[in-house]
Amino acid sequence: MAPLHETQIASLVTSLRDAVGPERWRIWFEGATDFRLDGEELTIGVANLFISDHLRSHFADHLTGVMAATFGRPLPVTYRVQPDLFQKRRADNLDGEAEAMERFEPKACAADPANERPADTYRPLFTLDNFVVGSCNRMAYAAAKSAATAPGEDFHPLFLHGGCGLGKTHLLHGILHAARTRPGLRSACLSAEGFTNRYLTCLRTGRLDAFRHRYRSLDILVIDDIHFLAGKSATQEEFLHTFDEFDGRGRLIVLASDSHPREIEAIQNRLISRWVAGLVIRISRPDAETRRRILEAKAVQMGRPLGADVLALVADRVQGSVRELEGALTRIIAYAALLKTPVTRELARQALLDFVAVTPTRTNLSEIEQAVTSFFAVTPSDIHSSRKLHQISIARQVCMVLSRQLTDLSYSDIARALGNKNHTTVLAACRKWHELVKNGTEVTWADGASRRTMSAEALLGHLKERIRC
Ligand code: ADP
Ligand code: MG
Repeated sequence: MAPLHETQIASLVTSLRDAVGPERWRIWFEGATDFRLDGEELTIGVANLFISDHLRSHFADHLTGVMAATFGRPLPVTYRVQPDLFQKRRADNLDGEAEAMERFEPKACAADPANERPADTYRPLFTLDNFVVGSCNRMAYAAAKSAATAPGEDFHPLFLHGGCGLGKTHLLHGILHAARTRPGLRSACLSAEGFTNRYLTCLRTGRLDAFRHRYRSLDILVIDDIHFLAGKSATQEEFLHTFDEFDGRGRLIVLASDSHPREIEAIQNRLISRWVAGLVIRISRPDAETRRRILEAKAVQMGRPLGADVLALVADRVQGSVRELEGALTRIIAYAALLKTPVTRELARQALLDFVAVTPTRTNLSEIEQAVTSFFAVTPSDIHSSRKLHQISIARQVCMVLSRQLTDLSYSDIARALGNKNHTTVLAACRKWHELVKNGTEVTWADGASRRTMSAEALLGHLKERIRC
């Protein structure tokens, strides 16, 4: 039989859990406290002082009540920070981030956590010289050149953003290659995932000093896909300190992201305000003429220069990202190689028939608006208005969410297109529907004289099907 005080403690813990409720228990007690009876005194082991202060100020009455019920009277209470709980709490906090880290090059990190692996950084073909400049990326290119030759002199940081496959990573590596031709200039390029990865590994293995020394002493620090830091508060904090080391000393941080700094969710305001204080430049999809020139340059790089008629055809048929252009080109060249024929306009057309069929074409906003408005029996001007009628609100929110999911438009673009709204309205709708889907929530709306109910997930799925048809 368990000794009496153990049984009493078990019963005290159960009553306390009931008294504070499962949510608060999970946040403040579970894994962070340890209850013991020392003679006539209750000792509560805690993970840190912050928790003991919080327990004292918020749960003292609960504790007094359950002690009276368990022991017949309230006992004196002592709080003690317990090293094992402290470690566990810290480890728990880091676990979410570490999970992401361990998926990513665990071996390289174990070998030398303070250094990035060349494979993560070395892209020999991504140079500024072979970057094709057009109206979609002219500013970004000019800023990249200036960053490599006079880092931190005119702006800090440089923040490039834009959809997938539009050349952000290419420009970042281009900066790095150019910077490396300048003796004495120290630079590094890594992904935000790599930064998180290395930071957490160094933290765990006691090599934080090496990590900080490595990144804070550079002249140019280039970090790709910075939106990966969303929700990772420990790494954001570290990055903030890294960032501040670069301020105003002729050194530069260059960042790239799929969204504008203000549109990345779950990033500390302190970071956002620093980023927007620098030079923020958007890269957009290439126009027809730039597409043609990119194709021409890529074909030459691949050793298969193409005729003007073929280039014009591909530039016309493939209107997405540069990555898609590259895919189309590879396909055409592979076709010609397999059929052992030269690349003619007809062959390119044949190759692309298939290509266009397998590459999902991006949906445009009017297709989405059309499907949503007809489904909810509202009009586009209802959606563009700010009317709060339930039916219209749902249709408007769904339109925003689907626009975000099915196009590569930014929150601001969508807000503007849907009646000149603020981008935070679109952000809020996306967050709300993310929660609705996650929680399996059902939504109800009017369908003629009757009402219809559907889970948020099924509703979005159904509308996507309609849009695709
Ligand atoms: P992002 O990082 O924006 O997703 P990348 O930089 O990885 O896009 O570019 C995708 C591909 O397109 C790469 O192979 C890159 O070399 C190429 N690319 C993008 N923009 C250009 C450009 N303006 N000139 C030449 N190649 C480009
Ligand atoms: Mg990229």
